[in-house]
Amino acid sequence: MENCIFCKIIAGEIPSPRLYEDDQMIIIRDIEPKAKLHYLCLPKKHFAYLSDMDEERAEILKHCFQVIPTLQEQLGLQDGYRVVINQGANAGQTVFHLHIHLLGGEVLGDF
Ligand code: AMP
Ligand code: ZN
Repeated sequence: MENCIFCKIIAGEIPSPRLYEDDQMIIIRDIEPKAKLHYLCLPKKHFAYLSDMDEERAEILKHCFQVIPTLQEQLGLQDGYRVVINQGANAGQTVFHLHIHLLGGEVLGDF
């Protein structure tokens, strides 16, 4: 998708170290961390919103949620972490390529 910053990261056009990569997703560090550890899981296939769900996208998210727990120790998240998807304006979504936030590395405040 043209002009999508996460598609550019996935394509390697914007450098961002990959902490994990497979055929369907990558994990990078958030550039403006909101917790001591803040990662983003980016599905390689572009879609903007959680609400754009269909069978294929559901399979991609299923894959992401199967892989994330297998990485929690290597990401330093073994003591717990928060999983967040911001959907739309009221949630403050700013990048319109669906992504999963992983926040941890400390005791997180209530929200
Ligand atoms: P959201 O509010 O859910 O759309 O979150 C978008 C996230 O992407 C924010 O936490 C940003 O800090 C993060 N972000 C934006 N640009 C980059 C980038 N080039 N590399 C890593 N994270 C980014
Ligand atoms: Zn994209």
